[in-house]
Amino acid sequence: HYNFCAGPAALPAPVLERAREELLDYQGRGLSVMEMSHRSPEFVAIAEQAEADLRELLAIPDNYRVLFLQGGASLQFSMVPMNLLGQGGSANFLYTGIWGKKALAEAKHLGFPVQLSGSSEDSGHTRVPAQVDIALSSDAAYLHYTANETIGGLEFDYIPGTAQGGLRRADGVEVPLVCDLSSSILSGPLDVSRFGVIYAGAQKNIGPAGLTLVIVRDDLLERRCERIPSLFDYRAMAEAGSMVNTPPTFAWYLAGLVFQWLKHDIGGLAAMDAVNARKAARLYATIDGSELYSNPIALPNRSRMNVPFVLADARLDKPFLDEAEQAGLLNLKGHRSVGGMRASLYNAVPEAAVDALIDFMADFEKRRG
Ligand code: PLP
Repeated sequence: HYNFCAGPAALPAPVLERAREELLDYQGRGLSVMEMSHRSPEFVAIAEQAEADLRELLAIPDNYRVLFLQGGASLQFSMVPMNLLGQGGSANFLYTGIWGKKALAEAKHLGFPVQLSGSSEDSGHTRVPAQVDIALSSDAAYLHYTANETIGGLEFDYIPGTAQGGLRRADGVEVPLVCDLSSSILSGPLDVSRFGVIYAGAQKNIGPAGLTLVIVRDDLLERRCERIPSLFDYRAMAEAGSMVNTPPTFAWYLAGLVFQWLKHDIGGLAAMDAVNARKAARLYATIDGSELYSNPIALPNRSRMNVPFVLADARLDKPFLDEAEQAGLLNLKGHRSVGGMRASLYNAVPEAAVDALIDFMADFEKRRG
């Protein structure tokens, strides 16, 4: 069976096998990782190794802190403004789909000033706003965007700002970039130094649900609002090694196994990038070459991780999904808000899965199209 679920997503088979081997007895210690104190030397070693491997994979500069939190990416929609707007200013947003809209709504809900700095709404979210059209407010304290909109299948092909100067307001003040990378982190190399804050729910390319990764530039730890819960406080979490309270230990351990897999089995993020490029190119070529399937996204903004497509006749949706499932191709139904199909091609989805999907799609079109 191949799993194309958008999240929680497939995990690499070698990771699950290793976790099974170690489930009852972690390296001869006589207990499961799940049963260990988060303050025990064994678990602290697991936690530190995971962070070190992630730092190596993404080449995270030393002036960034890596936090292993809970609450999902959705809690970051609230935590980011609470941590970055303590000295005033407004949160600026690029709106390119459902997740970015939720991020803006949460900041607004908490009473923070928000500003729309760019949108893809005019194009029906088929093309990201052009860099020249990004309009920062004069009081912008950060710019938030969603690198890859998981539902719409719309992915940025650039990082706002420039490698030399970052992103700046008209008055020259630097505007840190905040990026929701939930559905594309670790899909390829990334220049972390371009960002102020990166966050991602784990359940796509990192590990199981329940863990949320935050990477934050350390000078930004001083901008938090005065009265926030310590569990929501980046600085408190950074000072406590993400252990202000009991962290999601088993999810952290599994994320560490995924990082090891990326390093040793895949050979790093450049190698992962090449695999992901091949997978996406093959599936989009099949869609574009058919009369039955279509995808509306502008070519440079087509998501490599989430490929939504519709059938020319919606009455074929159900037979398509039923037959796909019989063929062992699971979770191809599109998000309930948009319908159609969506194949998520996260890191753990092997190239053979894409080949099987393409063969099935061609065969289905021949018979039913
Ligand atoms: N942001 C993006 C881009 C997502 O794809 C998702 C979930 O699919 C979320 C945020 C919400 O994540 P969580 O369920 O971890 O809160």
